[in-house]
Amino acid sequence: MSHPYTPGAALAAMRPTRAYRCQVCGATFTAQDLRAKYCSERCKQAAKYRRTKKIKATPATPPSSGE
Ligand SMILES: [Zn+2]
Repeated sequence: MSHPYTPGAALAAMRPTRAYRCQVCGATFTAQDLRAKYCSERCKQAAKYRRTKKIKATPATPPSSGE
């Protein structure tokens, strides 16, 4: 009376695995997530950190610095 497979596993098997390229390190990886952009959680965090850093790195500097 025990089921050999779980519904979750069957669903996961139905999902197609696609090849992606990490937007951080450029590594090729496969994922089932259609919105996958990064090969690992590490790169995901790196991208997020980079983005916030970029925003913070653009302060309201005056266009004319007198140079
Ligand atoms: Zn990566």
